[in-house]
Amino acid sequence: MVAIGYEDIVKAPKALLHDHLDGGLRPATIIELADAIGHPLPSTDPEELGRWFVTAADSGSLERYLETFAHTVAVMQTADALRRVAAECALDLAADGVVYAEVRFAPEQHLDHGLTLDEVVEATVAGFAEGTALAAAAGQRIRIGTLLTAMRHAARSQEIAELAVRFRDSGVVGFDIAGAEAGFPPTRHLDAFEYLQRENFHFTIHAGEAFGLPSIWQAIQWCGADRLGHGVRIVDDITTGATPVLGRLAAYVRDKRIPLELCPSSNVQTGAAASIAEHPIGLLRDLRFRATVNTDNRLMSGTSMSREMALLVEAFGYGWAELQWFTINAMKSAFIPFDERLAIIDEVIKPGYAKLLP
Ligand SMILES: [Zn+2]
Repeated sequence: MVAIGYEDIVKAPKALLHDHLDGGLRPATIIELADAIGHPLPSTDPEELGRWFVTAADSGSLERYLETFAHTVAVMQTADALRRVAAECALDLAADGVVYAEVRFAPEQHLDHGLTLDEVVEATVAGFAEGTALAAAAGQRIRIGTLLTAMRHAARSQEIAELAVRFRDSGVVGFDIAGAEAGFPPTRHLDAFEYLQRENFHFTIHAGEAFGLPSIWQAIQWCGADRLGHGVRIVDDITTGATPVLGRLAAYVRDKRIPLELCPSSNVQTGAAASIAEHPIGLLRDLRFRATVNTDNRLMSGTSMSREMALLVEAFGYGWAELQWFTINAMKSAFIPFDERLAIIDEVIKPGYAKLLP
């Protein structure tokens, strides 16, 4: 097999469904924004600060992990800051060869300096549009869809779901809930999910990362999630051996082609997988689940879409055919209209990989 070079992976078109806006800031931007509001940081050297984020997220301490987001969220409290962070997110993803991305964030976490929920979304969506236009001017085509996240420990999911629907024609393509799984089952937010279903809207649910099968089962069978954020613990319902045997829930997820938003590096950091080589993505691909590759938090994991793919190439010996398979899986599972998904697959992804495939 021809070894795949990192530069070629960057050039290959990639699709990303699970990326947090507050988990992907540039360290230099955090430093500038923090300086402007007098927010203290662990370091004011961009490289050192970047390393601090990865180390803190790696530490295994929940307190230190949460501290990383306390810093990023603290500097994203004005319309200008949100617009800048969103624009840079679009530019960074485009430079990494991502042609389609759904980026999520929780508007309720950006109200500290007096912005309203609507103003938070307006600024962020404007930032994505600005970054997308700048990337296009530099010859890099990217389409970004915004997902609005509600925090599962809070009680604003209905309000955030209505906010998402209000912005459905202005860049918001879906809804999500995130936060600690244990003790906060998705069924707490049933009203919001039922509302979204009545509105013919799309949503994904963070489930089956730290917590196991009951969380995945609730997300699908009670809440009606279109996709699973992570969903990696679905492997607990698969008996491995010479011929793997799927339990009823795993079989349902595979039969219904429910997309799994797998995030290899992030899962290793949180302990949901022991290493990239032992990550269930290998088994889930072999069994042809609708598996996708994602970044989760680029800053905290010190990663990018190209790096995640390179890690999988290294761990599982994947070639271009597999990378194209993951990419098309993601594009098929996107929350934008079917004809637009098809256009990106036929006009961008397939021709891009055709140049790389032997
Ligand atoms: Zn996530």
